[in-house]
Amino acid sequence: MKRLNFTLDEATIQLLNQIANQYYYGNKSQAVRAAVESLAAHLGHEGWVVAGFVPVSVDSDSECHTCHRHFGAGETLYRPVFRKGRAHNALQQLPREQWLECSDCAQILATES
Ligand SMILES: [Zn+2]
Repeated sequence: MKRLNFTLDEATIQLLNQIANQYYYGNKSQAVRAAVESLAAHLGHEGWVVAGFVPVSVDSDSECHTCHRHFGAGETLYRPVFRKGRAHNALQQLPREQWLECSDCAQILATES
């Protein structure tokens, strides 16, 4: 354990007191620890995240990467484009396999990231 000294504005101090009193028996150190852990989980880890999708007209039977529905030749699926970033679902390496999403799954994934 180590004592840290940092500066907070009045509104943040009030919020910290409120959270500490409501959930941590008034223990501000525990409240700060929980807040930092929650932030770390939210920010996730460094890796490859989906930046967007490029439409692809498939020329043979193809499967959606997420929902595994099958789509025939001539249908439009969406290939993800990756960038470096932080997210709870960030990939450590770029995927090597064919990765196509149907429009439903691509829209959900685009909303999440
Ligand atoms: Zn799908």
